[in-house]
Amino acid sequence: MTAFADQTCAPLAPVSGCDLRVPLVQGGTVGYANFDYAASAPALRQVTDRVAELLPFYASVHRGAGYASRVSTDCYESARGSVARFLNAADDQVVVFTRNTTDSLNLLASCVPGDTVVLDVEHHANFLPWTRHGRRVVPVADTIEETVQRVVAELCSKPAALLAVTGASNVTGELLPLERLAWIAHQCGTRILVDAAQLAPHRRIDLATTGIDYLAFSGHKAYAPFGAGVLVGRRDWLDAAEPYLAGGGAVRSVTTDGVEWAPAPQRHEAGSPNVLGVAALAVACDALAALDETTVVEHERYLTHRLRYGLKTVAGVNFLRIWRDSTDAVGIVAFTVDGFEPGQVAAYLSAEHGIGVRDGRFCAHPLLARLGVDAALRASIGLGTTAADVDRLIDAIATLVDQGP
Ligand code: PLP
Repeated sequence: MTAFADQTCAPLAPVSGCDLRVPLVQGGTVGYANFDYAASAPALRQVTDRVAELLPFYASVHRGAGYASRVSTDCYESARGSVARFLNAADDQVVVFTRNTTDSLNLLASCVPGDTVVLDVEHHANFLPWTRHGRRVVPVADTIEETVQRVVAELCSKPAALLAVTGASNVTGELLPLERLAWIAHQCGTRILVDAAQLAPHRRIDLATTGIDYLAFSGHKAYAPFGAGVLVGRRDWLDAAEPYLAGGGAVRSVTTDGVEWAPAPQRHEAGSPNVLGVAALAVACDALAALDETTVVEHERYLTHRLRYGLKTVAGVNFLRIWRDSTDAVGIVAFTVDGFEPGQVAAYLSAEHGIGVRDGRFCAHPLLARLGVDAALRASIGLGTTAADVDRLIDAIATLVDQGP
């Protein structure tokens, strides 16, 4: 049991699934303890309420004069404003709706007019799309400071159109100095993209102030349902590129001989969009924007420290970390347990304790190789996590280690 200083820690916001009961292998049921927010965060109650409210208006956008279609269109278009306000987007930045972060990054990759520089710690979604478009990989150093110097050296050595970096590592939660990287990139005539899949749900991002040119995130990690994501970014590249998908909605006019494409965002949103998903994403953005950032950060930081502190007292637990000098992270704890396969630990936590964690390589194979492990466990924290959940996880791991492999 953890000896961490006690503090009442209720969930910060109502999320769905908090009253979920899961069957245990030894019989009976237990309340689900969700430590998988980094994979997908359960929807906020405001979000589920809004989806229920909108379902009767199920109608395609931009297509009809009927009432339901007009409501859908208003919802869809006003969602761009919610996202832009959530991120404090600059005037020349447009909000394009996609399916998820992966989709957003592939879209941007199809628009970049030159090489892209990436780090070797990225999620595959921010690593693989650039391969087809002159990807240059910078291996990170064991400090953030030296990593930044390596980025400077790479950008100075040869022009690059884009620097594509993660806002928060999906494996360790560690944060990069984005404002500084944006400044450096701009000095070299390079634009910067931030993969904010893990950052946006946990930290306030200000595009206009930080100078971040492009940003992507997914609704399903930001307390909204699956199926809607965002690419926000500077209009000129998006307007100059071929549409990501060719089809209805992306055009101004079509003849049998040719087509005049619409500008962004419609240019890259061909086909009937996910209106419900986008509306839900917008509500999640509004709800996150309304929360006090300091309260959110302190809630997640307290629980993360409590978890680390507790796990540290268990023999054989090893934490993963990319940088020696990182001082800040979102609520993710990645670890291994000596003598146990991560998959075995995850299965035990689920079957015997009703605790959900992630195990594996987290779609970040180059990073796991760099950290010297084949696989690991990841416990991630969000708005619905409580101190009692954290203590349950620590106790369960301690019990496993006591029992032995
Ligand atoms: N980038 C990061 C940092 C992620 O953690 C993830 C998902 O785990 C992605 C990108 C891909 O997100 P999606 O699967 O929603 O496209």
